[in-house]
Amino acid sequence: MCGVCGIFNHEKASEVLYLGLFALQHRGQDNAGMAVWDGQQSMIVKDKGLVFDIFKPGVLAELKGRMGIGHTRYPTAGDSSIANAQPHYAETREGRMVIVSNGDITNMLEQTRYLKSQGFTPYGSNDAEVIVASIACYYEQERDMAKAVKRMMETVLGSYSAILMFQGAMYVFRDPLGIRPLAMGHKGATRIFASESCAIDTIGGIYEREVAPGELLIVTDQGVENRMLAEKKPYKHCVFEHIYFSRPDSVIFGESVAKKRFMMGQRLASEQYTGADFVMPVPDSSNNAALGFAEENGIPYKLALIRSHYIGRTFIGSTQEIRDFAVRLKFNPVKSIVAGKKAAVVDDSIVRGTTSKKIMGMIKEAGAEQIHLRIASPPIKHPCFYGVDTPRISELIASTKSVEEIREFVGVDSLNYLTLAGLKSCLERPQDFCFACLDGKYPIEPPTTK
Ligand code: SF4
Repeated sequence: MCGVCGIFNHEKASEVLYLGLFALQHRGQDNAGMAVWDGQQSMIVKDKGLVFDIFKPGVLAELKGRMGIGHTRYPTAGDSSIANAQPHYAETREGRMVIVSNGDITNMLEQTRYLKSQGFTPYGSNDAEVIVASIACYYEQERDMAKAVKRMMETVLGSYSAILMFQGAMYVFRDPLGIRPLAMGHKGATRIFASESCAIDTIGGIYEREVAPGELLIVTDQGVENRMLAEKKPYKHCVFEHIYFSRPDSVIFGESVAKKRFMMGQRLASEQYTGADFVMPVPDSSNNAALGFAEENGIPYKLALIRSHYIGRTFIGSTQEIRDFAVRLKFNPVKSIVAGKKAAVVDDSIVRGTTSKKIMGMIKEAGAEQIHLRIASPPIKHPCFYGVDTPRISELIASTKSVEEIREFVGVDSLNYLTLAGLKSCLERPQDFCFACLDGKYPIEPPTTK
């Protein structure tokens, strides 16, 4: 899970990029980076921490140029060291190529072996570095960027939504299955590319469309040229972008995230009755699903769990100890709302179950008479290999426990998940989505078993 942004043709590209990255901070809080082309070369700044902490006004002032790319990172391939932070680069005889990418590649070992045989030595262990090194390698052989990107698409497997700068041009492309999102828009003559449309909104731009799966956009001072290099229908968009990752104010895969979550909540409510007095979300990613749930059930929607916005998502904590600590820092129930009441609690998903157990324990401590937990997605039983850091299969609670065992573990009076059929009914084109972590049907062969 990462965020990418690209700005073309703005006199203060780094400052506009900052705004875009800020809007994409929820996609990765481990480190962030930026590269800006000054007309001769690309200057790269990357560090550990949040966008706000790294890109102080003095740093942005040094990043002069009209074109730039940026990244917010949550590590899924490679450790969280600066060597693995993006942007990444590869040298060619005609200059340096610089890239940012969101996704994971599945044949990293084989492709790295090939690159080494061609004289490219990776300096880190990140998939984006392998992508840019592959394009650089093929470019040296082909002397044509479209051919080089096409060969990369044919040989590098997995997910990538990427923006690359080379010789004053910007190259924007997406894997043939379109697993991760990538939006395009503009503000006047400035071209904007971003993982989510909310970044385009933040910059005051106009959203145009998604970069199509398998498409390459070549952005130069002459305009935007598009080439379809490797489309593979049906697509396999990540359904968890709609369930959890993306901001609700974004349009992802052509559909409003807020609207999809609302529909998932409605469908969840229609699948099993709770008899609850009111419904409360586990904020923020479940807010819209809980609204749909309340409307469908005809019960009040209450903000009975308050979330602190000053720490990251608990899902992102790197050790169990940190995750344990973070839950209490992050959530606090409102006693005056829950005490003596039957609460329906809507959450978007359960991964390990430990966070849910703590939150339910806090709601019980606050005096709830009954807790009916409703999950707006089916049980996660399989790990992801396409850009989401799900834990090993043995740590996914739904892979080893039944729904009744999970209910007992998290300590609630009833538990129900949205069915897979129910989830699919909320999507306009379910055949274009990946559900592999739910049904185990991987669209690209996984590299190894997690
Ligand atoms: S396996 Fe799950 S999280 Fe990964 S891309 Fe598919 S739907 Fe998304």
